[in-house]
Amino acid sequence: MDLNQLKENKPKRPVMFYYAIAFVVLLLLNFVLVPWLSEKSIKETTYNEFVGQLDAGNVTKVEVRQDEYSIYYIVEVNGKELICKTGLMDDPNLVERLDRSGVEYGTPIPTKQSPFLALILTWIIPIAIFMFIGNMLSKKLAQGMGGPGAMSFGKSNAKIYVKSSTGIKFSDVAGEDEAKELLSEIVDYLHHPEQYQAIGAKMPKGALLVGPPGTGKTLLAKAVAGEAEVPFFSISGSEFVEMFVGMGAAKVRDLFKQANEKAPCIVFIDEIDTIGKKRDGNFSGNDEREQTLNQLLTEMDGFDGSKGVVILAATNRPDSLDPALLRPGRFDRRIPVELPDLQGREEILKVHAKNIKIADNVDFSAIAKAASGASGAELANIVNEAALRAVRDGRRFATQADMEESIEVVIAGYQKKNRVLSEKEKLIVAYHEIGHALVAAKQTNSAPVHKITIIPRTSGALGYTMQVEDGEHFLMSKEELENKIATFTGGRAAEELIFHSITTGASNDIEQATKIARGMITRFGMSDEFDMVAMENVTNQYLGGDSTLACSFETQTLIDKKVVELVKKQHDKALQILQDNIMKLHELAKYLYENETITGEEFMNILENRNN
Ligand code: ADP
Ligand code: MG
Ligand code: ZN
Repeated sequence: MDLNQLKENKPKRPVMFYYAIAFVVLLLLNFVLVPWLSEKSIKETTYNEFVGQLDAGNVTKVEVRQDEYSIYYIVEVNGKELICKTGLMDDPNLVERLDRSGVEYGTPIPTKQSPFLALILTWIIPIAIFMFIGNMLSKKLAQGMGGPGAMSFGKSNAKIYVKSSTGIKFSDVAGEDEAKELLSEIVDYLHHPEQYQAIGAKMPKGALLVGPPGTGKTLLAKAVAGEAEVPFFSISGSEFVEMFVGMGAAKVRDLFKQANEKAPCIVFIDEIDTIGKKRDGNFSGNDEREQTLNQLLTEMDGFDGSKGVVILAATNRPDSLDPALLRPGRFDRRIPVELPDLQGREEILKVHAKNIKIADNVDFSAIAKAASGASGAELANIVNEAALRAVRDGRRFATQADMEESIEVVIAGYQKKNRVLSEKEKLIVAYHEIGHALVAAKQTNSAPVHKITIIPRTSGALGYTMQVEDGEHFLMSKEELENKIATFTGGRAAEELIFHSITTGASNDIEQATKIARGMITRFGMSDEFDMVAMENVTNQYLGGDSTLACSFETQTLIDKKVVELVKKQHDKALQILQDNIMKLHELAKYLYENETITGEEFMNILENRNN
């Protein structure tokens, strides 16, 4: 999976090595070099020698140091001065000797270096050496970490990828045909710019990949790197976020400088929303982030598109991006990377199944159907879980059953083997799950059930109903939505009907039902009162889709009332359906209670047998 990186990593030496060098240098400096240099070289001689030199007339200067019991004298031989030293003798003739030879005596002979030189030797040189070593050390450390680090503020750490044999290709990305088509046009341009220039067409400077998490945005960008035979700079938006104001901007500048040098090339900024957030008028706004964004805007304007620098970016929060970033001339292409449809899911499963050993008779389309709403990342995970399950059971390859179980694992969590439900609880869960399924099956428009289990899951669910949709739905009618609400209330309805008491088990159903009901009223114009007026706006559509209310307080109260009415009506409908089929409810629940699992087929058999 890894692409070749241009930068080669040298084998790294342990940090201790450099500390040891620094320590040895310091020792040498202090105990050998400094004392040696700070004293001028002085020759020790005998008293005889001194007297001899004096008599020979070679001595030019003498100083007697009583406190050191020494005599210092300067001998001049062949025009060279030499400082000598000898012991102080009790010589009564000394003064006479000195007078006789006519030397200058009594003035001090300098034997120490000047204080200025001493300062340089003892302070400035060691500090310089330390700075040098420290610098080297941090460089080495940074290399060891695989990128410029501590001492290199303001350098972009974009990784450069080149075309490589192991790289990801477009063929590794299943589905997403529109995105691939748009991106391959960019790759084509980088390969043959002449064709485009001949007709006068300009390539878009930038393209923005938007879509929910796990749909393959990063994968697509890597595939572009694999296909394009040009350098590919990849950096994540968060890498621009620095502690110091101005550093992020410096990194952006550096990145674009590098890109311009390497053109034609592709620059990929992943998770661009970290730096590209809307600049709001807040005074407490993040200065650093704003500067980084401004720099990015400037750089994108500044470079010459015809040079062949194409900027790709990915985000799952397009609505939070600054509008200035999205205007033509910057990211003028927006490439949606949506959740895969049925066919896309099947293809993704097949792409990933190539990497594992799997039985020949696995029906990928059935699995794709059962995994409706799953993203590419989840599908990849499902295939891997299936392989893991096969290993756990000591089989050599994964089977259809492995795949089906792993859908549940990925969506609902692992089976919780040690959580034991009491018999009463198990019975309640069985009725609850059958309640959902029966209501769904009895409403013609609802999707039939694929499988129901009442084995507790690590996610906390006590039972699990896997629904299968026959085909793809892009539009939902009002009736279908209402039926969906009824299905969600079916679990609780069964509990009420059979046990005349209610449990906490329906909290998730309640949440889902409410969400649909609210959406119908506030966003889809499916209520009589509000006609086609939006009462809520969705923000963050790719990340769960929170919504913000946009109406007066009075209306909010009315909306709440309408939501309750809508859910209540469907709840009553579910109760009615179960009441009408109470014998089936008992029979199915009994089956599920005893077997813990019921497939869609078994379910329909039981349901239809007595109906005939
Ligand atoms: P995001 O859109 O969040 O950047 P990624 O590109 O990181 O998602 O996808 C995560 C993983 O999911 C990929 O490494 C890949 O294994 C799998 N995946 C997602 N979409 C696809 C796809 N269309 N085809 C094949 N694998 C996919
Ligand atoms: Mg990503
Ligand atoms: Zn339920």
